[in-house]
Amino acid sequence: MCDEISDDARLKHEDPINYYLKHFHDQEIMGELRWSDPYLYFQISRIHYIQELKDKTLTSKCPDCGDEIIQGEWGEEYCNSCGLVTRSTYDYVGGFKIYLPYGLK
Ligand SMILES: [Zn+2]
Repeated sequence: MCDEISDDARLKHEDPINYYLKHFHDQEIMGELRWSDPYLYFQISRIHYIQELKDKTLTSKCPDCGDEIIQGEWGEEYCNSCGLVTRSTYDYVGGFKIYLPYGLK
């Protein structure tokens, strides 16, 4: 627990961009940055936005065949061609754990 805190402090010092990206959803940390360094805050927001866009582009293609990923009526996402389920709200089907390339929703 103690190590985790000092690692975080070190990351903040050595690599502030990654530190703030890691804590992007922490309102306290980001609120503080917004006041102390608005320029860095703006930069982090932009990087975060670009990363999310990339993530969306990535998860809309099948990792196996590259075809389009579509969403099923139960919220699961699967490949239009090969049927590979890439994302779902559960990773168990009929008592078996299934591998989801893009993880849980
Ligand atoms: Zn596919």
